[in-house]
Amino acid sequence: MVELEEVRLQLVELGLTQLALQLEALLERAQKEKQTYLSFLGSSLERELAFRQERKIEVKFRMAHLPYRKTLAEFDFSFQPSIDERLIRELAGLAFLERKENLLFLGPPGVGKSHLAVALGVEALLQGIAVYFTTLSHLLEDLKRAYKENRLDKRLSLHLRPKLFIIDEVGYLPLDHLEATLLFQLVSSRYERGSIIITSNKGFGEWGEVMGDPILATALLDRLLHHAQVINIRGNSYRLKDRIRAGIYGTPNSNSSG
Ligand code: ADP
Ligand code: MG
Repeated sequence: MVELEEVRLQLVELGLTQLALQLEALLERAQKEKQTYLSFLGSSLERELAFRQERKIEVKFRMAHLPYRKTLAEFDFSFQPSIDERLIRELAGLAFLERKENLLFLGPPGVGKSHLAVALGVEALLQGIAVYFTTLSHLLEDLKRAYKENRLDKRLSLHLRPKLFIIDEVGYLPLDHLEATLLFQLVSSRYERGSIIITSNKGFGEWGEVMGDPILATALLDRLLHHAQVINIRGNSYRLKDRIRAGIYGTPNSNSSG
């Protein structure tokens, strides 16, 4: 089939690689379904466009550096009744990104803060929205390197690109003065320009201590919380749920109910 090979090469030359790959299958189906010329052309181009869209999203997923791809569907709201499921579902509509609002997930370890932050990131990525995920310690390493190499401004403007910037694990480690200043600069540069999601095991009252500078912490919280929603999660760690059930870890309830 010289003609088929020729067409395939032409498709490749035009950059229609999916069409080139699937040409035989598409032709076969067209014959079987007795498609009109127009519907054959239409469905073939649709296939190419759908593939390109998927590939674009896949590239965005890679650039987002999510630690894993967990979704809201995988989140068991019945396990964590302190979370307002309706609010989370509304957030998944992503209007907060348009309003450049920030989200803060606060609570003890294992209650699902990172899972929810990632799941909202996944929602955004599926809509083709650029996301960047980092832990605070990675972010600070990154900003410190840029600072020492005199390219902090460039780095900060790069971090303005994603519409959603997720900083996981704020509060686990105390910051030195340079680190606190760098975090403040990042939050300031995205202020009213792009949303940040932060997860933290510390209440706001403790941020002064974490940042080693109460005045800087106040200035940072001022910007962070001006347009923000705070989701306080109280409850047991999901990581320990099986052990709690098995009675290895006591909870106040399990103790009193014997
Ligand atoms: P945190 O960031 O608050 O410490 P994570 O989000 O890392 O907690 O949750 C710990 C683990 O438990 C993760 O694997 C997460 O997917 C899972 N997890 C936490 N809460 C829930 C939940 N309500 N339903 C399903 N999985 C959960
Ligand atoms: Mg976490």
